[in-house]
Amino acid sequence: MKVSPPRLGLFIGGRQVPAEECDTIPVLNPANGEVWASIPDAGPEQVAQAVEVASGAFHGGWGKTPPSQRARILRSLADVIEGRSDELAQIEVRDNGKLLREMRAQLRALPGWYRYYAGVADKLHGETIPMDDASLFNFTVREPVGVVACITPWNSPLLLGTWKFAPALAAGNTIVVKPSEHASVSTLRFAECFAEAGFPAGVFNVVTGTGKGAGMALVTHPGVAKVCFTGSGAAGSQVASAATSRLIPVTLELGGKSPNIVFADAPLDAAVSGLLAGIFAAGGQTCVAGSRALVSREIYQTIMDSLADRVRRINLGDPMLDATEMGPIANPPQLVKVESLVESGVEQGARLLVGGRRPSSSTLKGGLFFEPTVFADVDNHMRIAREEIFGPVLSVIPFDGEEEAVRIANDTPYGLAAGIWTMDLARAHRVARLLDAGTVWVNTYRAVAPNMPFGGFKSSGIGSENGANAVHDFTRVKSVWIETEPAVGDPFAIKV
Ligand code: NAD
Repeated sequence: MKVSPPRLGLFIGGRQVPAEECDTIPVLNPANGEVWASIPDAGPEQVAQAVEVASGAFHGGWGKTPPSQRARILRSLADVIEGRSDELAQIEVRDNGKLLREMRAQLRALPGWYRYYAGVADKLHGETIPMDDASLFNFTVREPVGVVACITPWNSPLLLGTWKFAPALAAGNTIVVKPSEHASVSTLRFAECFAEAGFPAGVFNVVTGTGKGAGMALVTHPGVAKVCFTGSGAAGSQVASAATSRLIPVTLELGGKSPNIVFADAPLDAAVSGLLAGIFAAGGQTCVAGSRALVSREIYQTIMDSLADRVRRINLGDPMLDATEMGPIANPPQLVKVESLVESGVEQGARLLVGGRRPSSSTLKGGLFFEPTVFADVDNHMRIAREEIFGPVLSVIPFDGEEEAVRIANDTPYGLAAGIWTMDLARAHRVARLLDAGTVWVNTYRAVAPNMPFGGFKSSGIGSENGANAVHDFTRVKSVWIETEPAVGDPFAIKV
């Protein structure tokens, strides 16, 4: 007898809610093409229910919970996640096909974010501001904004969600999150940790469904006070238009076409490893993917030989296995996009050095695999150098001299991240200053931390996450004026 895959519910008010009235969306394991669960395709009615519950939890208590108590519950959440990190990592792998070792590393790091923002929760104070008029006592207070809508992509749902959840909760807000329709199961399971950690019911809620359906219903709901979005630029601009037409703040973390620049004086083995980490870790399905390698012509041939040799040996396979170095593409539309951009690279005259197709091996049958791909001699005007592919495709562009490297690096609509490989300290500082990117890594790549701000310039986003100041984005500032010597003044003139 064929067992049908489990049907998950929504998470509203501290528990799983069946949502049988909704259509369902099948959840595909990209490593073998099998459907292993289904999630509700929520509509405006379910979204409204979640927002109302979150609003009730905000006004009913969480917004006024003493800061030290919020901090204590956030620390307890960190402990619960620690205990369930392996289980959650395995769910993420089935959801999006990323390597188990990558997801284990992410899940083990996650409690650090909740502990960091637990430390910030009771340090969220305003200022006292001295006035020329000594009879006035002026101060500011920071208040939570209310219900925060979080919309997350499929590539690292729990890590990227946590960058929003931890500061939002530390500041006293409540949350409704809409994860990607391609990878929602981990967020639904993660929600159980909030109940276990002692969060009041309704502080953290999850609705699943499509972007145009549940996502748009959430952003346009009048009970939402702020929107935090991570995803593509196209969806981000629709979300931003909807939020700004309601006059509510929006933070956007979007895509990139990040340059990973190798100068002639670079430590060569480390640089080749950094190029690999930049684009083939997670199969290139990361926003910070170093998808454009800019390589000094002086060492171009050496780097290309070494890179091609290593890329040909990348072990493609089951993401659950320790020996695997690259798993599948996360979902069918993404695989089609990768293939079509690779075709455009060939058509526009880039030299295909490695990969460029779906693998033929029978052991990978059924999975959404694509070979790690390297294009050499790419011109920065080709589509493979301009458009975000979000897959394992590296475009290598040669350059002559520092000035040209910086010019090519900045010649992109994006500005999320950049890498520099050099042993020249002065050059490292000089080039880091000149690059138009929100994060610059020197002699390393793809490093993140709770206390280091992360955000994109230009078309890569608005605002930033992480770091102590990120919590301010989840507050509103109130200015209070106290006249300590009340007197009758001129009622028809402004007091300045
Ligand atoms: P996507 O834009 O297709 O979807 C992201 C989320 O937005 C999903 O939950 C989706 O359902 C929702 N959505 C889509 N259209 C919507 C709409 N009109 N209204 C409301 N919600 C909507 O992105 P994706 O394919 O899931 O993720 C890949 C993209 O995310 C890439 O562009 C990548 O660079 C970007 N990303 C950025 C960062 C960052 O921190 N800058 C991190 C990870 C991924």
